Amino acid sequence: MTEGLREGIGQVPFVDHHVHQPYKRAQAIGVEDFRRPFTEASIPAAWTENIQTLIGYQWMVRELARVLGCDATEDAVLAVRNGMAVLRYHRLLADAANLGACYADDLFAAGQCYPIDVWSEVIGRPVERVLRVETFVEQGYAACPTLDDALHRLSREIVSPARRLVSLKSIAGYRTGLAFDPPSATQHQQAVKAYSELRGAALSPHAAQRAPAVLSPSPGRIADKALVDTIVWSALEAAVPLGLPMQFHVAFGDDDIIMARNDPTLMRALFAHAPFRAVPLVLLHCYPFHRQAGYLASTYPNVCLDLGLTIPIVGPGAAAVLAETLELCPTRQLLASTDGHMEPEFQWFGVHVWRWALARVLGQYVAWDIFDADTALTTARAVLHDNALRVYQTGN
Ligand SMILES: [Zn+2]
Repeated sequence: MTEGLREGIGQVPFVDHHVHQPYKRAQAIGVEDFRRPFTEASIPAAWTENIQTLIGYQWMVRELARVLGCDATEDAVLAVRNGMAVLRYHRLLADAANLGACYADDLFAAGQCYPIDVWSEVIGRPVERVLRVETFVEQGYAACPTLDDALHRLSREIVSPARRLVSLKSIAGYRTGLAFDPPSATQHQQAVKAYSELRGAALSPHAAQRAPAVLSPSPGRIADKALVDTIVWSALEAAVPLGLPMQFHVAFGDDDIIMARNDPTLMRALFAHAPFRAVPLVLLHCYPFHRQAGYLASTYPNVCLDLGLTIPIVGPGAAAVLAETLELCPTRQLLASTDGHMEPEFQWFGVHVWRWALARVLGQYVAWDIFDADTALTTARAVLHDNALRVYQTGN
């Protein structure tokens, strides 16, 4: 890897096209909170007993010690970060990452995180909004007695210029899987029934007594395949005239995933439906199906992919994953995100590992005389910045 390439990659602002605002809370956090973003487990032993030995996490502690100027131990890093002013710390990490604009899915842990406009001020970067469609429908039960009402409410949100959306997002991957079926009479009947039952459960007096927990089921949670497929299809139909992209959670991620249903090649019904080819379909995370995702990108011009959550968690494995992805994925279809969530370190570290992996992989291609250093830097700029602006039609 040449020093010039590494430096050049560091100077490209990182457009984080899939991220969530961090928790809004006191700066002093416990070690468990500090480790928590590095696993999608819901079983506490994962982060109380094990995550401190994950290679990617150990690397994060070491890199953060460099930024904070302290010993490279978990205790030392946590003590220094906990002693800093909240807003100063968030800005410090955003600057250290050379972060550009962020596109935030603001329906993750809604109510516990910074509102989009506040977070934008905190980090000093533009933050655009991405609409998570299934959760949006869940939030509308009270106002929408029927499924038709719910789908109309969703379409209105998508087309309203006041909402300033840059993308839609589906979490079908960890609700019912990616084998979408096109609309049918049977599917519609089942979806109407499921919506009615879920709405009833969500609005029942017993539901209000149950405190919602992050990443755990709550009454009204939409996990019926006919209903999820109906929502996604309907959202895409509203998105097509606007050219609005749709992001899909693919594979690696939340602990309720059935991995065998998360191979993105199962999404064929969406790729085969000609009208949907007018909008970018962006596959997020993708691990361990990043090669399948690369195949899809090489086959369908409107498919883009990203290794978001994968990159910070696999740590030094990011170079191998990136190289495997680029076997088939044209570089103009690869986007970079961090899936930053909960605490601000995760986003900062995701940016760091993306830059590290790009420098290693593209630097290797230069060393092999596959292409020259200028092309390597242009490629990195496309992945970190330019591709997102083109795909989401944003000015920043
Ligand atoms: Zn996410």
